[in-house]
Amino acid sequence: MTNVIDGDAVAQSLRDDLRDAIETLADADARPGLATVLMSDDAASETYVTRKHEDCREVGIEDFHEDVDANAPTEELVSVVEDLNERPEVHGVLVQTPLPEHVEAERALQAVAPEKDVDGFHFANVGRFVRGTPRFRPCTPHGVQKLLEHAGVEIEGADAVIVGRSNLVGKPLANLFLRRADDGNATVTVCHSRTEDLAAKTHGADIVVTACGVPELVTGDMLSDGVAVIDVGYNRVEVSERRSEDSRTESGQSDNERGYEIVGDVDFESATEKASAITPVPGGVGPMTRAMLLYNAVRAASEQEGVTVDLP
Ligand code: NAP
Repeated sequence: MTNVIDGDAVAQSLRDDLRDAIETLADADARPGLATVLMSDDAASETYVTRKHEDCREVGIEDFHEDVDANAPTEELVSVVEDLNERPEVHGVLVQTPLPEHVEAERALQAVAPEKDVDGFHFANVGRFVRGTPRFRPCTPHGVQKLLEHAGVEIEGADAVIVGRSNLVGKPLANLFLRRADDGNATVTVCHSRTEDLAAKTHGADIVVTACGVPELVTGDMLSDGVAVIDVGYNRVEVSERRSEDSRTESGQSDNERGYEIVGDVDFESATEKASAITPVPGGVGPMTRAMLLYNAVRAASEQEGVTVDLP
């Protein structure tokens, strides 16, 4: 039997556990605060931000928001971020990406104070992370680790193959898997678009994580029996007849209404025949990414308020 990992349920249980840490903070008269900054007219980005605020309110994190005109210069965005850095009630600052093309995205992201950088994009945090002493684990890779832990998949000692080497997912995940830690100590292979014979790499792996943005690239015949598969991919493709069931996307809209559906980087049907555990798309990694943002906000508050909390 394949364990289809329910990301929504794991995320819910993590949010429930975070409430204890938030209560500990409340006992010390501290309330975690998370601010989002949106510089985009894109409907999907707006929906993602709205969801993050709903998540905050559900667990008792105070939420703040700043809009920046999508045509404004980089300086204006940087100045909004710097103002948030100065506010003690704001413990975490998240700049929603993608940013408009004219914006110097790196400059804006590096403007977030390292101690408030809940996305983990600041060079100081990337450096700490690569050195093996992370302050904030980037949300998606951390969510992948939690999903594996929940499914009872041992990372330590495993042969892990990651498909994708982005700064957002592939590279930080490789670093997490490599850490000298109980939830690390894997032997890691990182694949990318220039990898020759991807199947030769994925075959024989104990854990395969896909984050390449290529719909259904990894098929069952590329996997070994018993593999754990975590599919980070989130790809919009035209609605096909074989999937007639309507489903909600992570941005809350109905796929079929919009004429597209969401698929992962893994061909779920054939991979399920091989996998001992697998995440669906949607409903796998996506909800965990959101939950881990809350985790980082609570961690930021704990650090800045000097209150020790137990994090799940
Ligand atoms: P990205 O920045 O576009 O990076 C994609 C990576 O995949 C690159 O390293 C690329 O190689 C590699 N790649 C592309 N085609 C490949 C192929 N045919 N074989 C092997 N590797 C290939 O993407 P990303 O930001 O990491 O996102 C990846 C996917 O995850 C997307 O579908 C995205 O929507 C999804 N995502 C989901 C969440 C979530 O919370 N659910 C979060 C983040 C991302 P090169 O480096 O050689 O170009």
